[in-house]
Amino acid sequence: MIALRESQRALFSIHDVMPGTMDDVGELLGLCRGHGVDKVTLLVVPGCKWQSADLRQLLTWQAMGCELAGHGWGHRCQSIRGLKHRLHSFLLSRDVAEHLSLDERGIVRLMSDCAQWFSCNGLGCPELYVPPAWAFGRVRHAMLTELPFSMIETLSGVRSIRQSRQQLLPLLGFEADTWARESALRSFNSLNRKAANLSKKPVRVAIHPQDHRLRLSQQLNETLGHPWKPVSYRQMMVDGTN
Ligand SMILES: [Zn+2]
Repeated sequence: MIALRESQRALFSIHDVMPGTMDDVGELLGLCRGHGVDKVTLLVVPGCKWQSADLRQLLTWQAMGCELAGHGWGHRCQSIRGLKHRLHSFLLSRDVAEHLSLDERGIVRLMSDCAQWFSCNGLGCPELYVPPAWAFGRVRHAMLTELPFSMIETLSGVRSIRQSRQQLLPLLGFEADTWARESALRSFNSLNRKAANLSKKPVRVAIHPQDHRLRLSQQLNETLGHPWKPVSYRQMMVDGTN
């Protein structure tokens, strides 16, 4: 693995936080804390059957310092339409890139419902929104300014809605449940480590709920063990990337 510099800034996130993954998320948060990673953003999927015990757990994690972010609505596509979506689904997202089956108005409505769910459940509206599989679709900037989110994360980086500026940021991922995905992710991570060393920009470390049991679990452990300087998305936007 290509070595990274010490004290490199990193943004840690755990994707797909929903009732069925709460135990895994708890284990991963323990793993992060064990490695001294104390700033973790949880990407929450609102449109699930949330019980009051699950919501209390979210509040507890929030009180422990985790930032919450919106992550789609149901984390499932209603349909897979068009060649681009079909390719994205085959290579990356399977059937979770729900934005890609919606038009602009549908995406904005979904994001608005997502924001409202957090407020209605006493969790406060998140600043960050991450579309499932980082697939955002096409929405005009003017439409985004109507929404309460201030940042959107996509595959290439993080976009500030208010400042209308996109920051390209390296990304490391570990969701390798097949040989093909493992091989693709090893190459992807290697390229992104090189990019991180060249640019000195914060590295995004994106963790999915099963990753500590999948084929790149060792790489995940080694990555968490690196002497990072963990930063929050909010702090990164305030500081800028330089
Ligand atoms: Zn997801």
